Amino acid sequence: MQTKLYIQDLKNIIDGETYSSIYSFFSNYEETTGKPKNDLIYLNYSNFDEVIVCFFDSLFDYLKNTGYYPNIQTHADFERCVEDFFIATAISSGNLGQLIKNKYHNINILNTGEFNNLIEEIKNIKFFFKDKYITKLFNKIRDELGSKIQQENEIFLCPYCQRNYVNIIQKDSLTIKPDLDHFYPKAKYPFLAATLDNLIPACQVCNSRLKKEIDFYKIKHLHPLKSTEKIFGKLKFLYLGNKNMYIKGKSTLSAEEQQYIKTFRIEEIYNTHTEVLEDILEKNKKYNHVKKHHILKTCPSMGMRTIKELVFHEYININEKKVPMSSLKKSLFKKIVAKNGNI
Ligand SMILES: [Zn+2]
Repeated sequence: MQTKLYIQDLKNIIDGETYSSIYSFFSNYEETTGKPKNDLIYLNYSNFDEVIVCFFDSLFDYLKNTGYYPNIQTHADFERCVEDFFIATAISSGNLGQLIKNKYHNINILNTGEFNNLIEEIKNIKFFFKDKYITKLFNKIRDELGSKIQQENEIFLCPYCQRNYVNIIQKDSLTIKPDLDHFYPKAKYPFLAATLDNLIPACQVCNSRLKKEIDFYKIKHLHPLKSTEKIFGKLKFLYLGNKNMYIKGKSTLSAEEQQYIKTFRIEEIYNTHTEVLEDILEKNKKYNHVKKHHILKTCPSMGMRTIKELVFHEYININEKKVPMSSLKKSLFKKIVAKNGNI
């Protein structure tokens, strides 16, 4: 998300805490009194991958330069092991150390003492970033600024599905806020936990039931706030009978667009909204040419255009930002009504 009006609030939040910047880690992994650099908070989504690669390169260099792992650090899988363990530590607990030991048995047998120390050190480094970027900075941004940023960006619908409302409701003692999803999981990449472009106000279905722990760094997905309109603008829904709707020409969509539809189960979920199809079919049948001309005879001052707009008002001039499933409604309206010249 981008913020313009609340830039000073954000600055106050950042200035109120002391953090080590990711970039200080890159140079020497010393905790400094420096503030997180604006270029990390305002990092553009298109640079996320670059920063992650840079982070892990620095982590490998740091670990190697400590001199604590002379026997294992030259192993071909050393870096892969470090990255795997750093990413995995947040999503699992318990026996994870043993799982990594089994997976990287070839490194472990080189020097078990070094390997155990490595695992402990990675845990500590991960904790360092979790503490700075999630526990302190992200939580503060979410609690103190989240609503303002969302309202400023006029996000009413879940950007992933465009089906559920995520608008904030604050009235007397009632407060309803959407989930604030991390596009790249904060549990895996904690240094991106406070990056505005990484924060997506999402509905619980998309966040907790569908996306869950899918790692969008490893499995590429289009960024919803950058691409939602493009994706949904491309989707054309057709129907078979009056119960089965499907997306036309899925194979012509890009691999990332297809992945997006698959992850968020857009086709299956939209297909359950047969009430939209039934409503358009019924109105199209009920208000045929004869019926509309009959109304026009009764109320000639209305004009045919006004009559058509009254009948199909919820499908004409749809506000895509506020109307759920606008792509489904527009597609079906076009297919059933507009194409037959009934509007
Ligand atoms: Zn959603």
